[in-house]
Amino acid sequence: MFVYCDNAATRPLCREALDAMRPWHEDNYGNASSIYKMARETKAVLENSRRSVAGNLGTEPGTVYFTSGGTEGDNWAIKCTLLRNPERKHIVIPATEHHAVLHTVQHIEKQGGDVTFLPVDKNGHISPASLKASLRPDTALVSIMAANNEIGTIAPVAALSRIVKEYDKNILFHTDAVQAVGHIPIAITPDIDLLTLSGHKFGGPKGVGVQYIAKRISMTPLLHGGGHERGLRSSTENIPGIVGLAAALSHSLGNMAENIRKTAALRDRLIHGIINAVPYSFLTGDPENRLPGNASFIFEAIEGESLVLQLDSLGICASSGSACSSSSLDPSHVLLAIGLPHELAHGSLRLTLSENNTEQEIDYVICSVREVTARLRYMSPLWDCIENKPTQRFWQEK
Ligand SMILES: *Cc1c(COP(=O)(O)O)cnc(C)c1O
Repeated sequence: MFVYCDNAATRPLCREALDAMRPWHEDNYGNASSIYKMARETKAVLENSRRSVAGNLGTEPGTVYFTSGGTEGDNWAIKCTLLRNPERKHIVIPATEHHAVLHTVQHIEKQGGDVTFLPVDKNGHISPASLKASLRPDTALVSIMAANNEIGTIAPVAALSRIVKEYDKNILFHTDAVQAVGHIPIAITPDIDLLTLSGHKFGGPKGVGVQYIAKRISMTPLLHGGGHERGLRSSTENIPGIVGLAAALSHSLGNMAENIRKTAALRDRLIHGIINAVPYSFLTGDPENRLPGNASFIFEAIEGESLVLQLDSLGICASSGSACSSSSLDPSHVLLAIGLPHELAHGSLRLTLSENNTEQEIDYVICSVREVTARLRYMSPLWDCIENKPTQRFWQEK
């Protein structure tokens, strides 16, 4: 059996996106900046795609900028906000942001910028009071992800952006909505200045994304060159990618209610199945306010990477920590931020589902996780003394 449970890392291209893209690879390969007929058609499909994306996001086409994906959008929001005003060098982010935000602000910090990392509670939420207290007259940007890629916690972005704007309307508010768009309803409220999304997380192609930039702000260009994307992001447009992203977004939003219902039912079956089948296992992230496809766990006395490799040998694609850090030995910064000690944070498993998974697959995964964890624990010296370990109590009390 082959079961794909890593939809937060990437998703397969949906049929609708593939069909929409094909002619722009095969028949019309024009450069949208040229002036002959073929290129005018390319230009037209570019602007149609922009209108379609804008309509789906509830905004105007003039606020939609096509990029190469989530990492680029996050970098753009952070680096170029600082370039706008040298008087403001302070950035605020939760400690649980994606590496595309976290490593970018850590780089800025090394260059002399000033960053506040907000602590989160056990479920992965920042406190509104700590956000308010972190704001300063020299704060340039607050960046808060809409939904966490590791533990699935959904943040109340509208309320948090309100707090920032009530303090100072000149502080820009950015949200990395890569895990949210296409999966849960997202409203671009007037308090949100910048929003980042990525095509391949909702059935579009890889290497294409969107940056929403509110009309009222003047953003510094990310890439200088031929003046594409109204001068803010030069480079010949990735027309097939953009067409595919627009088609995938329409498709996922058109089926969202149904997809949420299906995916959340599978997720709950998986969560209950694993928690009941595996002793000393815990759910991470907000039990209520979580992404419909996210089931993330901690298993005591288990090494997450061994678990992922064993599951792979049974045909199951899963991840431990986040995909980008799976080559490093440090435990996930997200799991440390929610208060887990190192030894527990190493025992993480993230299973992320889509509406295309089935109940049979879920039951196979539950069975496989039970078998593999039992086998790994049987071989583990840690397991012998686990009854005496206070870690379970530690986690429940926090
Ligand atoms: C995947 C992801 C990114 C990076 O997006 P790419 O398009 O792969 O660069 C950024 N933020 C979050 C929350 C993600 O899940």
